[in-house]
Amino acid sequence: MKGNTSITLLLTIVLVSSSLAGCFGDALDEVLPERYGTPGGLTLACLQSDTYQSMVIEIDHEADYAPQSSSLDMIVERLESVCDKPGGISIELDEVEFNHEGTWSADDVREKSRLTKDASATTDSTLRWQIIFPSGTYEDDSVLGVAVDASSVAMFGDSIENAGAPFGIRISAEDVENSVMVHEIGHLLGLVNLVYESEFEHEDENNEGHSNNDESVMYWAIESTDLANFISGSLPNEFDEYDLADLAGMADGSIKVTDQLWR
Ligand SMILES: [Zn+2]
Repeated sequence: MKGNTSITLLLTIVLVSSSLAGCFGDALDEVLPERYGTPGGLTLACLQSDTYQSMVIEIDHEADYAPQSSSLDMIVERLESVCDKPGGISIELDEVEFNHEGTWSADDVREKSRLTKDASATTDSTLRWQIIFPSGTYEDDSVLGVAVDASSVAMFGDSIENAGAPFGIRISAEDVENSVMVHEIGHLLGLVNLVYESEFEHEDENNEGHSNNDESVMYWAIESTDLANFISGSLPNEFDEYDLADLAGMADGSIKVTDQLWR
């Protein structure tokens, strides 16, 4: 059971390990019966196929918060381009009720994700990642999406809806959702430097875990409503050449990968 006792315990752990800010939840694990790890902890499980031949992205959304079909198509396409999954990558879409009051913390996302997920991330030959789409906003309402552990992401539709507004008609909420979703999936893939050290200097020096290239979907401003101030032209929704080189290096073993949950 993941009741209030363990959540209280987790909160104390979070307080001492809050080095990753922004769109990451703070790191925690090891005290739960199932190990959930940190973003990037299932990177090799996706990039390689020796343990997991297929992959499911479970989407749990509240009524009126279903993602755009273009976002779903895009994350499958991006994952297929970098992950070795001969059994395929599919989406499972469920409408759920999270019964949550007030804003969302990283621990709220963890708790509600675990209560609604249909199956564990790593029990059989299928790797499962989960993205929840709740109503309401993150405790910092400039956050559009957050990756809270090795297999769990939340997307905040109310904030995404408003984030495109400063762009006027040039960038729609759909475009923002597309980019943020690929960005959070990128964190689950370990980008940037979450579970490895890139040979390229493309991690932003002021924004840990993010790219300094505004043409990468991993650019640091993608995570927040500040993006209007920092992005000129169209929003990136693709990994850049450095992101792709990092992923390829992890996949073929030429880059050392740490903190993997499953081996
Ligand atoms: Zn981010």
